[in-house]
Amino acid sequence: MLDFSRDHSALALNTATLGHNVEGHGEGWSPERIIDACAERGFGAITFWRREFAGDEVEIGERTKAAGMDVCGLCRTPFLVGPLAPAPQDAMIVDFKASIDMAAALQAHCLTICVGGVVENSHSMRSSLANVRSILEQILPYAEQSGVTLAIEPLNPVYGGNRSCLVTVRDAVDMCNSIDHALLKIAVDVYHVWWDLSLGDELERLPDGKIAGYHLCDWLPDTQDILLDRGMMGDGVADLKHIRQVVERAGYDGYCEVEIFSAGNWWKKPPAEVLDCCIERFRTVC
Ligand code: ZN
Repeated sequence: MLDFSRDHSALALNTATLGHNVEGHGEGWSPERIIDACAERGFGAITFWRREFAGDEVEIGERTKAAGMDVCGLCRTPFLVGPLAPAPQDAMIVDFKASIDMAAALQAHCLTICVGGVVENSHSMRSSLANVRSILEQILPYAEQSGVTLAIEPLNPVYGGNRSCLVTVRDAVDMCNSIDHALLKIAVDVYHVWWDLSLGDELERLPDGKIAGYHLCDWLPDTQDILLDRGMMGDGVADLKHIRQVVERAGYDGYCEVEIFSAGNWWKKPPAEVLDCCIERFRTVC
């Protein structure tokens, strides 16, 4: 395993950790202020959310690079299917393409996809996944034009109804392998996979280079809210070292991105304190 105990240059910040992506949360730091604070502390990269930009993606991407960091990701495409997907589907495709354009402008390493929940009235994970698959096949030629990597992220099964009919790494690997396109990869997030004893075996089925992101947080044993009560690494029950070990064994050596939605705790703390804690926990418990 890579040794991060004295080197956190592989650490990335997902700006959600500072509460910016949800109205009324966080201290409202601008992307510029986040870039400076992360660069100062030796973070290696930042993942932004689309809502943080007002047509200034190129400038923010360049500023991140000039500060010595990468943009490791952009969150995210619209939901592709299910009750939260834009309707009609043409409108979803327009928004999907806009997210690809934004990722290209930012020079982001990947664009994250939460695929959306079970298609209404289908009562079927299987057919919903088939819809996702055909949408991905339709959009990949557009992603090719700008070389943007798409990362499908399987979510915890608790989100199956509305946010993601892709709920296991098994299904994500199946989809990735069956579509078999150089720009389609998967993202692994501790919050979604910590419970899965087959994680290592499933990731082994991926060809090298097919993991586009690794997201850090923890699962709190007494979690109060399945969306907005993620734990800081070390505060929960996930076997963080084991998860990173199997992700690395599957060939991943990219950034480890802290992504903590925490309305009741971390979003209430001063951002500088949160960033410092991310570094300390990354070096000690991840
Ligand atoms: Zn994630």
